[in-house]
Amino acid sequence: MLASFEEALGQVQAFAASLPVSARHERVSLAQAVGRVLAEEVRADRDQPPFDRSTRDGFAVRAADLVAEPRSLTCVGTVAAGERFAGQLAAGECVEIMTGAPLPEGADAVVMVEHTSRSPNDAATVLFTAGIQAGDNVVPRAAEALAGAPVVPVGRRLDPATLGLLASVGKAVPLVTRRPRVAVITTGNEVVPVGGSPAPHQIRNSNEAMLTAAVQRFGGECHGLGPVSDDPSALRHMLQVALAADLVIVTGGVSKGKHDHVKAVLESLGATFHLAGVAMRPGKPFVLAEVAAGRRRVPVLGLPGNPLSALVAFGLFGRSVLARLAGLPPWAPRFFALPLAVPLAQAPVAFTSLAPARLAGQGVDLTVEPLDFQGSGDLVAMADADVLICLPPQTAAVAAGSFVRVVDKA
Ligand code: AMP
Ligand code: MG
Repeated sequence: MLASFEEALGQVQAFAASLPVSARHERVSLAQAVGRVLAEEVRADRDQPPFDRSTRDGFAVRAADLVAEPRSLTCVGTVAAGERFAGQLAAGECVEIMTGAPLPEGADAVVMVEHTSRSPNDAATVLFTAGIQAGDNVVPRAAEALAGAPVVPVGRRLDPATLGLLASVGKAVPLVTRRPRVAVITTGNEVVPVGGSPAPHQIRNSNEAMLTAAVQRFGGECHGLGPVSDDPSALRHMLQVALAADLVIVTGGVSKGKHDHVKAVLESLGATFHLAGVAMRPGKPFVLAEVAAGRRRVPVLGLPGNPLSALVAFGLFGRSVLARLAGLPPWAPRFFALPLAVPLAQAPVAFTSLAPARLAGQGVDLTVEPLDFQGSGDLVAMADADVLICLPPQTAAVAAGSFVRVVDKA
């Protein structure tokens, strides 16, 4: 029995959540940490910001001094970023201040330099063109975080903003989850290595390079085990080697053809099957299983051999498993809705369908346009695509302007 697309999404996520959280950690420098997953909670080592910080070049003032006309104050000094104004601001005084400088004591606001002028008669007198509220153009000490407060949780993928934040709290060598090791096995008598020269009836191994990239992109470390022929004992041997990894991906040989041995070989290794077939196109033969290796449960993804099917199944299902192994919070594909740029017509099928598509336009005019594609082998269309359009079973025609579900193509 095929699982529906929605059932499959749910089952993959439940399976991912059942896997133990990795306890394999390492420390890496910030320069090496982009894309890694934080394995320790990081706290502010001091108040953020550590002082009342000016966000503008201008003049630090007491807002109450600028309520009534004439709005003029005596400038008693200058403070730049990296400096501290030693004195205390008294009534009627202001201090020239630069962005990033600490607010002098006694001041409670900063007026932008654009709203001031120097008195023509007296350089020490500053004229203000407008009033101001206390707190304007100042970020108060600790407004972003109090000393000791958590600023980054365990499981956060380290993106540039988060890395900047880690740097600001002095976390130079964060603890991260080790990248899960992913073994990729490609199968098929017709599949030859990329560097070889294929005979007319042979196919180059697209899937290994493609899946290696997808695994790396989503946080895994990939070990390509090369193409293996459609021979059950060779496949069995290769799978046994692969079980040393944290996740095994097999492509090809998962359908019902005479030379499709993956499911039988997994069975012979005592696999538990969580999914074996999904009512979707492409990606229908997708298999999710696990095999015991000593005390470890090793998840196995059986992906169809057709490159587009393999990538779609990995991007929608495999990523949830990989995210768990990488130490990320539960991951599920996010679907969003966009209007179709052109009408779409297809023969209705009993499956959820996914098709490569391009985005066009900007903002509220953003639309999605399906690409011509020749079915699940068509990497030309997939490489051209920005996203996938996801249509429910039995969809026949969709009018231009109708909203359709769209999802990342991986
Ligand atoms: P299979 O799922 O083994 O029946 O393969 C389905 C289709 O995908 C066939 O046309 C295969 O030649 C093709 N295919 C299988 N494995 C690969 C691979 N590693 N790279 C490119 N195409 C493949
Ligand atoms: Mg095959």
